[in-house]
Amino acid sequence: LERQVHHHEKLATVGKIAAGVAHEIRNPLTSIKGFLQMMRHELERQGMEKEHSYTTVMLSEIERVNGLVGELLLLSKPRELKMEDLEVEELITVISPLISSESILHNIEFSMQLEPVPPVYADRELLKQVLWNLIKNAIEAMSEMDGGKLIIRSSFQERDGLVRIDIRDSGPGIPHYMLDRIFDTFFTTKDTGTGLGLPICQRLVNDLGGKIQVTSKGYGTTVSVLLPGLAL
Ligand code: ADP
Ligand code: MG
Repeated sequence: LERQVHHHEKLATVGKIAAGVAHEIRNPLTSIKGFLQMMRHELERQGMEKEHSYTTVMLSEIERVNGLVGELLLLSKPRELKMEDLEVEELITVISPLISSESILHNIEFSMQLEPVPPVYADRELLKQVLWNLIKNAIEAMSEMDGGKLIIRSSFQERDGLVRIDIRDSGPGIPHYMLDRIFDTFFTTKDTGTGLGLPICQRLVNDLGGKIQVTSKGYGTTVSVLLPGLAL
């Protein structure tokens, strides 16, 4: 518990700094992007192909920074939440085409095992975002290995009334000594990682009265989102 309290304080401080920094980055970035797009048109008009191709790279890098800033803002200042009763099965089904197409790209065999579960009380977009972040991690882990299997499962735990969503991958797994650190803000093992996905997901799920569990035993990883099920 003490560790968790400490973790929350750290996140709160990081959150305040993140909000300030994110705004300071976003404004100039918007103007850089605008002028760059104008320049891009001009280069195209003048047939300067090489220079034109540079702007493609620049714009995609700007989008990367934009994405990072978006994550920082999410971490620091959750938007107005719209809480409602959500059907987990429906929510997963809605994002499944996105998962399928990402899976095909990375040679991943994707399947779902959805058991009927009670609804959960959450913000739809937030929960989708949490699941997508965790699924992205699974896909990224397996694409390092040239493919694998991704299974998304839903089930209900009678004993504690929790709805459980498992995201299971056959990736390289997470070494035991690292399991402690993957929820730390900015912890990443990826060249282009932000290290924000898991800490943000954990905070969002905690705010909903749930928790995230990670199990990995040498091979493959299962990340589970547990949320209180509503009585039917
Ligand atoms: P990022 O994805 O930007 O690196 P995250 O907070 O989402 O940041 O994840 C932190 C780290 O946790 C990752 O860099 C990776 O080392 C590890 N990790 C998360 N999910 C998995 C997974 N499914 N398989 C293996 N490693 C994982
Ligand atoms: Mg991630």
